[in-house]
Amino acid sequence: MKKTEKDEYDKTYGLFKFKRPLPSEVESAMGLVGESILFKKLISADYERFYDPIKIPEEGDWLMTHKEYGQTYNEYIQKDCIPVDPNHNVIYIHRFSSNDDLIKDELFQNLIILLEAFFTGMKVYLYDEGNTNYFNNNENMIENGDENNNENNNENNNENNNENNNENNIENNNENNNENNAENNNNQNNENNENKQSNESNEKMAINADQLLEKLKLEIPEDAYCLLGIIDNDLYTETLLPNGKRLIKATYGKKSVADRVSIFSLARFDPFFNFNGKIKNLSKEQRYKISLILLKRVCSAITREICYMFGMKNCTFMSCCMNGTNVAEFDNKQIELCPICLRKLITNIRANGEDIITYRVKKPLIVYNRFVKMRDALDNFSGLYENELKWFNARIDFLKTLI
Ligand SMILES: [Zn+2]
Repeated sequence: MKKTEKDEYDKTYGLFKFKRPLPSEVESAMGLVGESILFKKLISADYERFYDPIKIPEEGDWLMTHKEYGQTYNEYIQKDCIPVDPNHNVIYIHRFSSNDDLIKDELFQNLIILLEAFFTGMKVYLYDEGNTNYFNNNENMIENGDENNNENNNENNNENNNENNNENNIENNNENNNENNAENNNNQNNENNENKQSNESNEKMAINADQLLEKLKLEIPEDAYCLLGIIDNDLYTETLLPNGKRLIKATYGKKSVADRVSIFSLARFDPFFNFNGKIKNLSKEQRYKISLILLKRVCSAITREICYMFGMKNCTFMSCCMNGTNVAEFDNKQIELCPICLRKLITNIRANGEDIITYRVKKPLIVYNRFVKMRDALDNFSGLYENELKWFNARIDFLKTLI
C-alpha cells in the first residue's frame, strides 16, 4: 500500500475516532480459511467489485457519535453466535393492532416474503393481533396465540441482566430533545392511563417498551427462534433512579436476546413523525409516498433487528445492512449483508443442528439460492428496490459462472 493510501486509512472520524478497516483487515474478518472452495467463492468471490467499503462517516452519521467494536466472523462463531436448532427455527412476528394506516397489510405481506428470503432456511410466521393464531402468508394456522391477559401488568421486571436497549436507543442527533419530548408525552400519559390508546383518533400515545417485552416473553411459542413485536406507537423505557425520580427515555425498540424477544416501533421511521404524537392530516397521495419511504426504512431496520437476535453485531467492515445507522441514514442503507455478515448468518442458519463443515461441503448452493430468493422477494415491492434488483441480477449472473 502506498504511503498516501495508508494515510487515508489512518484518518479518524467522530467522537470515538473511528478508523476505516484496511483491506487486509476486511479480508481477515471474513475468516474464510478451511471452507469448501465453492462455498467460499459464492460468499466472497470478487467482493471488491460488488460490495462497497464502509462509507466514510459524515456529520450526523451514526459512526460520528457511537463507539463500535465490530465483530469478525471468528468472533461471532466463537463467542456471540446463538445457534439455530431444528426445534427452534421459526421467526415469529407479532404485529400489534393499529388504528393508523402505517401498518398496512401489503407492508406486512411483503415483509414476510422478504424475511423468508433474507433468513433463508428459517420459517417466518406472522401473528396479527385481533386474530388469535400465527400465520405464514402461504400456510394455514399453526399454533394458538396466547393473550395471557397481561396487558395491564404494570410491574417492571428488571431481573434479566441480558436485556439490552443500548443499540436500540433512539438513533438521532437530537437525542436530548427526543428524551425531553418523550418525557413530556409520558407525563401526560401517566396522568391519563399509561398503557391505553388515546380516544382521539389522530393521536397516539407512547407505550412502555418494558411492558410490551414482558408480554412477548409470556407468549413466545415453543418452536420460536425469536419473537419480534412490531407496533406503530412510539415507545419509551422507564427507570427508577436512586433519588426516587423516574428516568424516561424514548426508544425505538428494546430486546432481550436471552429471552429471544424484541419489540420494535415504526413511529420514528415515519418521515412525518412528530414528538407530540399527532398524526398529520395528509392527502392519500402524500400518505402513499410516505408509506414507501417508511416501508424501505422498516425492511432494513427489521432485518437488522432480527440479525441482532442471532448474536450478530453492528458491522464496521463494509457497507452492509448491519452498519450502525441513524434513522435518516436508513434511506441510503443497503438491504443486503456484506460477505462477512452473510457468512455469519448463513453458517448459523444452515448449520441448524447439522455438522457445519459437512453442510458447507454438501450444500454450498444455499448461498446462491439465497441471492435468487432475495432478488425475487425484492421484485415484489413494485419498483421500490430498482437499484438493488440490478445489483442482485449482476451478482447472480456472476455467481452462475462459478457453479
Ligand atoms: Zn457486514
